[in-house]
Amino acid sequence: MRASAYPLVDPGAAAALVLEHTPVLDAERVPLVDCLGRVLAEEIVASAPLPAFASSAVDGYAVRAADGGRSLRVVGESAAGRPFDRMVEPGTAIRILTGGVLPEGADCVVMIEDVELSGDAVTVPGGLVAGQNFHAPGADLRAGERVLPAGVSLAAAEIGLAAALGLAKLPVGRRPRVALLSTGDELVEVGKTPRRGQITDSNRWALLAALRESGAEVRLLGIGPDDHEPLRRLVVDALAEADVLVTSGGVSVGTHDLIKPLLESLGDVHIGRVKLKPGKPFTFATIPAGMRASASSPARKREQHGTYGLLPEGETGTKLAFGLPGFPVSSLVTFEVFVRPALRKMQGHGQLQRPTLPVRLGYDARATADRTEYQRVTLRREGLELVAASTGSQSSSRLMSLVGAHALVRIPPGDQGIRAGTIVEAMILALP
Ligand code: AMP
Ligand code: MG
Repeated sequence: MRASAYPLVDPGAAAALVLEHTPVLDAERVPLVDCLGRVLAEEIVASAPLPAFASSAVDGYAVRAADGGRSLRVVGESAAGRPFDRMVEPGTAIRILTGGVLPEGADCVVMIEDVELSGDAVTVPGGLVAGQNFHAPGADLRAGERVLPAGVSLAAAEIGLAAALGLAKLPVGRRPRVALLSTGDELVEVGKTPRRGQITDSNRWALLAALRESGAEVRLLGIGPDDHEPLRRLVVDALAEADVLVTSGGVSVGTHDLIKPLLESLGDVHIGRVKLKPGKPFTFATIPAGMRASASSPARKREQHGTYGLLPEGETGTKLAFGLPGFPVSSLVTFEVFVRPALRKMQGHGQLQRPTLPVRLGYDARATADRTEYQRVTLRREGLELVAASTGSQSSSRLMSLVGAHALVRIPPGDQGIRAGTIVEAMILALP
């Protein structure tokens, strides 16, 4: 074991530094069928009013309000998609169906339940008011109205609105391409029986899910060995295509922890340790696009940096590399705090962070002297409040501390801790 040369960075400063280095990817135009969960890249302005024409809200008769209380001759019909194209003269009525165009001359619709029919005449009640029972043009949306800002996440209503405005494709942020690698000689594929000393690679599947939830397109690199050369080849190959590399394991200070020196040889390591529990060995680097496979040693890299740093054409921009700690909870918590906001920024999201809510601590939270702690809690409603309970042992290897957790609660470093009953801001993962 050797001491780490990396300074311990405050988690807030580390998160800000990651975002500073994170580019926003280009936008692409995508058909509505593929827009769910994507991030709108440009504001949408209504090019026409909605509805585009005065449209009946009910089944009934289109008449002039001034004809209220009279018996009117029914001279035609306006059904949805089949308008009546003449004028409604005084003393006449047009049968109209929901969604039918209000014909010229008519200024209100009388519901079918409110009339009396005899032959081709209809008697309408007195006291009719112009404007009744139809949607005026532009009632839902005026032409020129800003309807969706850039940065919103597209869900059912937003996609429906775009379709209603006649937009078959939408400009959305490109999904980040992420290469995901688990490292460690002790790892075996899920489903295989681990021999003595081996463990199943579970981080791959947890991180794959977390990456997908964050909008990434993931390429699985599988398990990388604790061996510099093969690890380097895997990473260099993957970075030829990917925007982001995410690894788990191999970032602590044991002799088999190769990720930090590897990233040092390929780019710039900005963060090598954070004052965070769990997740102290979290590592973040940027790697110039188009770095050559021959850039093997730190010395060589320093020599050549800048001359081979960028591909001659096409590829621009820097790649991001996140070296997450191996312990399952550490990898997921550092993902939440550092990686997820970055992936959202890349897609152009307006909202990078999880929402927060004030919650009342239902337990005495002990602090760690020198590190901010993200404790995992469940929430329950008590009257108008949310009360947080610990998920139990907060060991960084115990995935059960995250299973079913509704929120993360930040406990600042020190010897104080936070007393039960205190109101704190919780980072919401899922509401109960
Ligand atoms: P490391 O940071 O490589 O020293 O890993 C720390 C610990 O995390 C290891 O001893 C394993 O117990 C665990 N670990 C590392 N990688 C994985 C993985 N892919 N899946 C599950 N646990 C892992
Ligand atoms: Mg390891």
